[in-house]
Amino acid sequence: MPITNESILSPAMPGVAEVDEYVCPNCGTPARGASVCTACGTDLDTYKELPRRSEFQEGGVEAVRAAYVEELRQGAGAPGGVLVRWGALFLDNLLCIGVPLLGVMLLALVGVDAVTVAVLAILALWLFYAPLMLAFADGQTLGKKAMNVRVETRDGKRIGLARAFGRETFKAILSAFPLGLLVDALVAGTNDERRSIHDRVFGTRVVTTQ
Ligand SMILES: [Zn+2]
Repeated sequence: MPITNESILSPAMPGVAEVDEYVCPNCGTPARGASVCTACGTDLDTYKELPRRSEFQEGGVEAVRAAYVEELRQGAGAPGGVLVRWGALFLDNLLCIGVPLLGVMLLALVGVDAVTVAVLAILALWLFYAPLMLAFADGQTLGKKAMNVRVETRDGKRIGLARAFGRETFKAILSAFPLGLLVDALVAGTNDERRSIHDRVFGTRVVTTQ
């Protein structure tokens, strides 16, 4: 059967009219893989999954946006809260500093001077523990495991060793400044994904695991 102009223009033609593509949750403009909406500037990377065109039309602008933000907040994969993350950091510090200190005190009781060893142990743990755990233990230090959060890249993938080293070193430097971690937490509070300064610099986010 010859193809006529009429059949080409028919809305029933597969692949043309039936594409239900992903759109910006804010304004409905097709996303087409962009990380920022070309029409309204919405940060599309914020969303785990964008609404399809049909979903967008059903819900309306604010309803769809609210639904997706709510989805981000609930259940596994929701952004980790500041207090939970501080709890994890406290537990990790307890491990990296407290355990060597406890060791040196116990050894001192039996007359062994292990201060040098303890200082070296603390330095080594402080440098390598968190990056190695993040890179090879599914984005979790023991503190994060206890608090049910993990670090992942912004597209939900495993964080590599180089990125983990950068992130943790940056965070350590930041925490050395007075109020450094507080400013970091305030920045995390400004966005739906709860991304802090060190998350923004290294393309990561902290999500809950349950
Ligand atoms: Zn838009």
